[in-house]
Amino acid sequence: MLRQIKDRIEKGNRFLITTHIDLDGDAVGSCFSLYWALVSYKKEAFVYLKDRIPYKYRFLPGPKDPRYLINTLPGERFDTVFVLDCGDFHRVGQGYENLKNNGFIVSIDHHSTNSGFGDINLVDEDASSTAEIVYDLFRYLGIDISYEMAINIYTAILTDTGSFRYENTTSKAFTICGHLTRIGVRPSFIATMVYESHPKERFILLGKVLNTLETHKDGKIAMAHITRDMCNDSDALEEFTDGFVEYIKEIDGIDIAILIRQTEDKRYKLSMRSKGDVDVASICRIFGGGGHKKAAGCHINGDIGTVKSMVLEAIKG
Ligand code: 5GP
Ligand code: MN
Repeated sequence: MLRQIKDRIEKGNRFLITTHIDLDGDAVGSCFSLYWALVSYKKEAFVYLKDRIPYKYRFLPGPKDPRYLINTLPGERFDTVFVLDCGDFHRVGQGYENLKNNGFIVSIDHHSTNSGFGDINLVDEDASSTAEIVYDLFRYLGIDISYEMAINIYTAILTDTGSFRYENTTSKAFTICGHLTRIGVRPSFIATMVYESHPKERFILLGKVLNTLETHKDGKIAMAHITRDMCNDSDALEEFTDGFVEYIKEIDGIDIAILIRQTEDKRYKLSMRSKGDVDVASICRIFGGGGHKKAAGCHINGDIGTVKSMVLEAIKG
């Protein structure tokens, strides 16, 4: 598979790189690092991101020329379309079906629920992050990893491992990050940018969200919710809620942490985290979502009360 991808990179000239909606560090970092790799081959590469880059990831170096960072899907064809960090094709966002018309699809991913939608699927569920697989690809290609590639990969691994706390924190992840620091990445700088540069509105909203905290099943399940009104009242953007579920996960004795965020009038996005043996990806799959055993997500339609009972019912079943 690596051989085929190498061939496509060497023989192709124009590439499109994309990832999932609800951008996270791995999504942005993987796309940008691959962008710089293709540029180092003197290829033309476009990064298509449907969503705006969250504030805390804007320091990551991407295309300098804005023509190469696009937010609408182009009509033309590319030699290869890289779809990164997407377990399901629809995670690319509205209009994802059209991407098939843009060219041959190479999917690179680490989600256990990956549906195999690409023409080539380079999927390794043991990888800490998609960026780790991209790093392995760079090593296979024999690319000199530049600072721009390194800072993107480091940030992706840092954020997808929850600052080297989750079970996907392997010795390989540390080895790669060690190499990236030797290239010039400064962990303290990245930690400041990602974790200590939040707008104060995030904390005003967090206060309201923590007030909704409730536990179920003898304290084994903790959940909290965010309505659009709560966001508006706090002058907070949706992206400020990234990481809120991790606070709920910090409660002692819980097995599952759930954050329920309103996205439309009667539609909610659920973020689930498992601290015990429960596979939250399999619960999210019941609702058409997916992810990893310990971190997964899905969307459910209904009012907040119905959504909560549906999810509690699914966990029981
Ligand atoms: P989060 O809760 O942080 O949005 O997502 C946790 C993990 O589950 C991430 O790896 C994310 O890519 C994945 N995920 C979140 N929502 C969905 C979804 O609707 N479908 C799929 N397949 N994966 C999701
Ligand atoms: Mn990822």
